Formats: sequence, structure tokens, C-alpha cells
Amino acid sequence: MDNIQMVDLKSQYQKIKTEVDKGIQQVIDTTSFVKGKVVKDFEDNLATYLNVKHVISCGNGTDALQVAMMALGLKPGDEVITTSFTFIATAEVIALLGLTPVLVDCDPNTYNITPEAIRGAITDKTKAIVPVHIFGQSAPMEAIMDIAKEYNLAVIEDNAQAIGADYIMNDGSKRKTGTIGDLGCTSFFPSKNLGAFGDGGAVLTDNDELAEKLRAIVNHGMKVRYYHDYIGVNSRLDGIQAAILDVKLRHLDEYAAARNYAASYYDNAFANHKHITTPARYEKSNHVFHQYTMKLKDADRDALKEHLNSKGVPMMVYYPVPLHLQKAYKDDRYSEGDFPVTECLSNSVFSLPMHTEMNDEQLKYITDSVLEFFK
Ligand SMILES: *Cc1c(COP(=O)(O)O)cnc(C)c1O
Repeated sequence: MDNIQMVDLKSQYQKIKTEVDKGIQQVIDTTSFVKGKVVKDFEDNLATYLNVKHVISCGNGTDALQVAMMALGLKPGDEVITTSFTFIATAEVIALLGLTPVLVDCDPNTYNITPEAIRGAITDKTKAIVPVHIFGQSAPMEAIMDIAKEYNLAVIEDNAQAIGADYIMNDGSKRKTGTIGDLGCTSFFPSKNLGAFGDGGAVLTDNDELAEKLRAIVNHGMKVRYYHDYIGVNSRLDGIQAAILDVKLRHLDEYAAARNYAASYYDNAFANHKHITTPARYEKSNHVFHQYTMKLKDADRDALKEHLNSKGVPMMVYYPVPLHLQKAYKDDRYSEGDFPVTECLSNSVFSLPMHTEMNDEQLKYITDSVLEFFK
């Protein structure tokens, strides 16, 4: 059996090597290293796939969040509501721009931000909400959009972990996550569901005005070369990354199916287990399983990790420390105990290997190894 990894990018590459290598070589042959036709083509193809009007590519997912907030004209002192149970990037850019991150607790089953928590955090300084589609499943977008409308707030979806997921609207129609709010942000970090061979990111929007502004902001704030209309940044997607992403985009649905296969295997293996709660499915979203994250009950997580590692099975904890308890974000407004759900999750969740190349032999070995721990 091959080495088991959290993410197996090498086996994935082997299967698409011919297409990917050809794409990379074309970029080199045409020297369109930054911007250029390959990037434009990828943006167009992604826009078609997501059914969104504009895709503005940029350097990484963190930049995508930052330029989204810049394009909305958020100012120091403005409050932005997001979840305490997420990767740091979400709050990082809020803080970097001098905005005030307002953190809230999450749902114990889906791990996503809740409309109730958002409502409870709104003040007259609130300007935006950043729902994160954590681990590959949509946050409750329609309820969030209703709140945003009621209070005139912008919604920026952090779609870094859920690209390709569908949100099922009340009327039964489907919309891709990241295309429901005013702006959606995504990451092409290698281990993400649509991953490059380096960094990359994008902002998604149906809003023409915001799209035009974003295109300028990611390129030094200029629409016409050397005329700067906005204070911008330098955050662009490389041609080589775009060529790779364009190939992988054609496989994205197949990749999501492979992830779901592995998830079902895990679901079955751990169903009704005394110490394990498998990830809940939210009825208004499908799941693209960026991570397969379970909750551990009445058992020692470190010991489980040690047991699995001794058997050559990696296990990770996403995320061990909630944002409101991170050292760099220490703030008089928050203390331990403020967000009991998030804090409980940080102490109890664990994630098993999840990627596009898992086979039954590996899945059996992993699940057997986990079950053995409790014997
Ligand atoms: C990965 C990630 C980001 C940041 O993306 P980068 O491309 O790594 O900058 C932001 N938010 C979430 C939830 C992520 O998982």
C-alpha cells in the first residue's frame, strides 16, 4: 500500500500529467507569465463553471479577502462579523485593514456560522458579514442574505474550502457557493479542492462596478497603465498557475465525487460509534469535503493521534485554537468561555486523510486503525 497522506497531490498529478505539462509549456513558450491570455481564459472558464459574471484572479485566498474588503470601501472602525471557528486568514485581513473583527460562535453540527449568532453581534458599526463555508459545506446563505438586507450589510463569502459546492435555495434551484453574497473569495492553495502548484486566489461577483474596481485594486489600483485610481496592491495569478488550474477545473466535479466516496466510506465505518460523531450534512448544501472532520467523545485525542501515527496514518486537528483565543488576536472583548461551541469543537474535532486519490485499501486500513484504538 502507498504511503497514506492527508493530501496526495502527486498521485493526482500523475493522472493529468500530459495535460498539465502541455499547459505549463505553452505558458513558457508564449512567456505570458503574469496576466495574459491563459489567466483570462481560466477566469472565463471558472466564471462559466460557477455561473457568476466576474472572476477576478489574484495572488492567494488571503489577498482575495483583503481586496474584497478594500473594494467595498470598508474603513477603520467598521465592524465585520465572522466566525471564531475558521482559518486565521479570515480575521487577519480584517485586522490588517484596521477594521474590527467581531467574532461569533458556530453551529455544533455543521461547524458553520449561524444566523442567530450574527444577529446577536450586529451594532450600528457593523458593515459586513464574512460567512466561511467551513470544510466544504455551505453556511446558511439565504438567512444570512436576509439579515444583510435588513441591516444593509455587505456579505463576503469565504469560499476557500468549498469551491464547487451547491447551495440549494428555498425554491429548489442551486447556486454555487461564493456566488450568493456581494463578493465571494476563494483560494487555489495546492491542498484546496481546486489547487494550483503554488499560491493563487480569486474574487467572484455578479456586480459590474465592484468587478471593475477589484481588477484595478489587484493591479496597483490602475485601470490605465501608470494612472492610479485607487490605492491597490500587487496580487496577480501567474500564467503557469492559471494553466494548471484550467486543467484541474475540468476535473473538479470528478474530484468532488472522489472525496464524497471517501466520506461515505468513513460515514459507514464510524456510524453509531460510541466515541465518534461523523460530520453532519446540512440539508441546504451538498458537501465537497475539503476536510472530513469528526468529533471525538470521551476519548483522548492526543492518544488517538499517537496511535494512528504509529500505524502510518496521519491525523490533523482543524482548528486547535479558536480565533478569539489566538495570541495575536488577544482582545479585551473576548475571553475563554465566550464561545462554548467553538471552544468545544477545538478540543474535540479531528480530521482524517481526505483527497481525490483514496482507494478502498487505504480507506479500510485507516478506518480499521481508528476502530482498533477503541478496542
Ligand atoms: C486557505 C484559506 C484561506 C486563505 O487562502 P490562502 O490562499 O492560503 O491565502 C482563507 N480562508 C479559509 C477558510 C481558508 O481555508
